[in-house]
Amino acid sequence: MNKSLIIILVFFIFSCKETKLPPSGICISFDDRSVDEWFAIKNLLNEYDAKVSFFITQFDSLTASEIVKLKQLESDGHEIGSHGALHVVSEFYIKNNTYKDYLENEINPSIRSMKQAGFNIKSFAYPYGAKYWFTDFMLLQKFDVLRSVTSINKEKDLTLIDEIYYDFNGDRTLSAIGIDTNGKVTKEMIKNAIKRASDNNQVLMVYGHIPMSSPASNSYELDIDFLKFILVEAKRKGLEFYRFKDLTAK
Ligand SMILES: [Zn+2]
Repeated sequence: MNKSLIIILVFFIFSCKETKLPPSGICISFDDRSVDEWFAIKNLLNEYDAKVSFFITQFDSLTASEIVKLKQLESDGHEIGSHGALHVVSEFYIKNNTYKDYLENEINPSIRSMKQAGFNIKSFAYPYGAKYWFTDFMLLQKFDVLRSVTSINKEKDLTLIDEIYYDFNGDRTLSAIGIDTNGKVTKEMIKNAIKRASDNNQVLMVYGHIPMSSPASNSYELDIDFLKFILVEAKRKGLEFYRFKDLTAK
């Protein structure tokens, strides 16, 4: 083999290595504590090999049977994360109390009670998406990844909202677009967002609350048909399903 051919080959190998990113994907999450409704979509998620993140608030108020259901969801490969013990607006709570109160009443008990029940918590979703630099600073010492929320833009075009796509840059403060009926996100918008993720080697992040067959309009309910559309479309475009804790590990 001549010298220049070797140089070209070495260059080729190195450039391949540098551009090799994990596959494009979608990261679906659910907030609060509608464990029965989440459990009801267990088979649907399995049908599409979809792994998602469930963020639990007020864990102490769950019944024993709800905790068993969460365990089963976890054993299917889904992530169980924290969504706070009280579900407060972090900034207001800290202003009206202290940051120590916030940690002692909202954050630490949530981690503790979930840990006692055998869940190893890596991710946190801010209630109401409410956060600022100081909460990020404090909570990044306790969690691997923090999730906030993003509303639809005035252009009604999800491909223009950069923050709902993760591009494997190590960012640990991420945000997701709401897919409940109150978010007013349409199938067409999601389809285009999935295309952007697929075309650009990114991960689209979405979140909802209560999956329902006939959801109320303008509510925290997510139409199961819409969820199914997202799963089908993600599969069709060959997207990987990521949990939040996976994103920081990449
Ligand atoms: Zn919430």
